[in-house]
Amino acid sequence: AVDIRKVNKYYGPFHALKDVDLAIPPGKVTCLIGPSGSGKSTLLRCINFLEEYDSGEIRIDGQLIGYEAPGRKMSGRKLREMRRSIGMVFQQFNLWPHMTALGNVAEGLVRVRGLSKAEAQARAAEALAKVGLADKMGNHPARLSGGQQQRVAIARAIAMEPRLMLFDEPTSALDPELVGEVLNVMKTLAGEGMTMVVVTHEMGFAAHVADQVAFMEKGELVGVDSPGRILHHPEDPRIQGFLRTYH
Ligand code: ATP
Ligand code: MG
Repeated sequence: AVDIRKVNKYYGPFHALKDVDLAIPPGKVTCLIGPSGSGKSTLLRCINFLEEYDSGEIRIDGQLIGYEAPGRKMSGRKLREMRRSIGMVFQQFNLWPHMTALGNVAEGLVRVRGLSKAEAQARAAEALAKVGLADKMGNHPARLSGGQQQRVAIARAIAMEPRLMLFDEPTSALDPELVGEVLNVMKTLAGEGMTMVVVTHEMGFAAHVADQVAFMEKGELVGVDSPGRILHHPEDPRIQGFLRTYH
């Protein structure tokens, strides 16, 4: 579980996150939606401390991330250790172009997890099979479609056996016909009980796969509720206004 309490984040004078409270239950999918610039990526990046938050607390399974205690920063080693259990998938796939799909997934297992090359490759092959790429393991990224590349990125994250997966608009850079295959892989992961936080503009995914949907605007978390209530019967006029732009 991730507990976000009264988190504030500033970029210089700009107040990017305003007293954000959000409980992310284990084994569930939380979708984060909201207009451009509302702070969705910022909040996601605060969860693994890629961005420092200025006040409040973010706890992962009870453990504060980024700080030993409020105001006292965590050591780099401790932070890296905590981050190892968090998988992240971005809009841009960030694969190594000179490595095969298998190499891309195995690399972190050798470098970060300290597995032997053979063990890493076996586990990487398993992860790639899981995202439907058993037959593309030897391809370099240039010989994979965008959807396949993103599935390699997901395989790379799940091969590390994270307890939490963060997705920041994983399908936004894809051609429309490739979006479905990536969402399906995410749906499968969700079905296996992975704890997921997904920033997305895919309202269909949010409606069908999310356990809860949180709406952000101007750095504020305006509301969080079941997808049915947030997407179909929103009470807040800001959510209503945002959703109208999708119809
Ligand atoms: P989008 O849907 O376009 O990805 P978002 O909801 O993810 O938007 P963020 O990227 O979290 O929005 O940005 C929130 C606000 O913080 C924006 O107004 C942005 O300009 C500002 N911001 C983000 N990163 C920085 C930065 N490194 N320095 C200064 N301002 C920033
Ligand atoms: Mg963003």
